[in-house]
Amino acid sequence: MPIRQQSRYDAVIVGARAAGASTALLLAQAGLRVLAIDKSAYGSDTTSTHALMRPAVLQLHRWGVLDRIVEAGTPAIRKTTFHYGLDREGDRIEVDIRPKDGVDALYAPRRTVLDTVLVDAAVEAGAEVIHDATVQEVLRDSDGRVTGVRFRDALGFGYRVDADLVIGADGVRSLVARSVGAEVTRTTNRPAACIYGYWRGLELDGTHWYYAPDAAAGVIPTNDGHACVFVAMRPERFLRHRSIGLDALYHEVLRDSGVDLARDANAGWVSNVDADLAGGANAGWVSNVDADLSGGAGAGWVSNVDADLSRDANAGWVRNVDADLSGGAGAGWIRNVDADLAGGAGGGSVRRVDADARVPSGRSLSPVAATLVGKLHPFAGAPGFLRRSWGEGWALVGDAGFFRDPLTAHGLTDALRHAELLARAILTGGDAAMATYQTSRDAEAIELMDLSDEIASFDWDLEHVKAMHHQLSKLMGREYGATRELDSVASPAALQAVI
Ligand SMILES: Cc1cc2nc3c(=O)[nH]c(=O)nc-3n(C[C@H](O)[C@H](O)[C@H](O)COP(=O)(O)OP(=O)(O)OC[C@H]3O[C@@H](n4cnc5c(N)ncnc54)[C@H](O)[C@@H]3O)c2cc1C
Repeated sequence: MPIRQQSRYDAVIVGARAAGASTALLLAQAGLRVLAIDKSAYGSDTTSTHALMRPAVLQLHRWGVLDRIVEAGTPAIRKTTFHYGLDREGDRIEVDIRPKDGVDALYAPRRTVLDTVLVDAAVEAGAEVIHDATVQEVLRDSDGRVTGVRFRDALGFGYRVDADLVIGADGVRSLVARSVGAEVTRTTNRPAACIYGYWRGLELDGTHWYYAPDAAAGVIPTNDGHACVFVAMRPERFLRHRSIGLDALYHEVLRDSGVDLARDANAGWVSNVDADLAGGANAGWVSNVDADLSGGAGAGWVSNVDADLSRDANAGWVRNVDADLSGGAGAGWIRNVDADLAGGAGGGSVRRVDADARVPSGRSLSPVAATLVGKLHPFAGAPGFLRRSWGEGWALVGDAGFFRDPLTAHGLTDALRHAELLARAILTGGDAAMATYQTSRDAEAIELMDLSDEIASFDWDLEHVKAMHHQLSKLMGREYGATRELDSVASPAALQAVI
């Protein structure tokens, strides 16, 4: 998209995704001259597991773009279920999503859908949006006031653009925040790591969230008939992927969270078979069995067995496991285990251990076979922060100004909500309005940030995490109320633009 020859804008926004494109949309609707610049490609994907909370869906509805997200095939989510512990029939809380304020479901659009819909709407409202262009410098005058940016497009051409306001919507590693020295006013540092992937073939009744000691997971229906399935864990555990591989770790944490996406052993993957070898010579524990059963119904080949025999005096490594899983889902027989126990005190080789393979009784979301589509996406975890979010000629919105652990799946909701608070402050004009933007954002952010940190720490038992979810739900209720109240004051488009 070529830039029009316009030397001056009311606002230049660095970053054009959830926060940047929303802010561009709202400011352009109010008649401001807006340019948004993003270094990623139009319609491209980015790291995220997609779940939008009710305030975000209400805003998309109010901004007139929710229909486009529905038309893109994003499934309606009418129920959300929290599972606590490993017992299949165990502790669960089901929440029905009831129609309210013109919204009758939640949605979890892929970022290729959400960000594109917001960019398109911003352009239709009159904003200019340039992709594949990187902002390299934030410009300041001799008094230190921010006056514009310098950027380079995909062909390597450089541009200078002046603006009354430069808005950093450029994510956690915000160039704008760094350039203006935005003070960090609060941090959290007990992040969770996560791995997610997309599954085909799950028949879901809404979103599912799983919490068990030291493990959590979520199953989120999204576009293309896929479900985004993530696991979360402490960062120390995440490092195990270096030794056992990302795939094995993913399946291991799925199992430990109580999720069983492949209970039907007749097709697809059987993962994370725990084999108790206590009955055989040189007792031990086999974990992380990946089974490709594509060779036929009810039988197949188990490969890639990592065995941790550290509980046993004869610690060592088990390899070459031949497994007959013809017993069906949830049961089987592992035979012909070649164990090299050379590392242990006993030394030597053990053969032909017969063992019951106990597939743990995780919950199955669907009786159909589920298949992982594409590669897994790792996220090592990152500390949370809250930054001062406005100053002379600049402002921050979205992750650039506030990042909390993603385990509570709230960043997109915050990005949309804070975009609207910022747009209203800009359109009201003056330092007092900008100060109100920051104080109202912080008032909401701090509790959410601390709660996210505590949930992500995994320093809890199930009763505690349940209580924290209850508290989270109360905070979201308050946030929803505040978002709804914005309807009773003038919309950004109706506010007079005075910067
Ligand atoms: C693993 C994971 C899972 C998550 N799951 C959820 C979830 O389920 N629900 C939820 O609500 N939130 C979730 N989040 C959080 C959510 O993804 C973020 O809060 C959200 O992306 C913030 O949007 P943003 O627009 O502020 O920033 P971003 O989405 O990070 O966009 C910033 C943009 O700025 C651009 N940019 C950066 N620097 C420059 C530059 N110099 N020049 C030009 N462009 C630049 C980047 O290319 C990028 O496109 C998750 C996050 C992670 C890490």
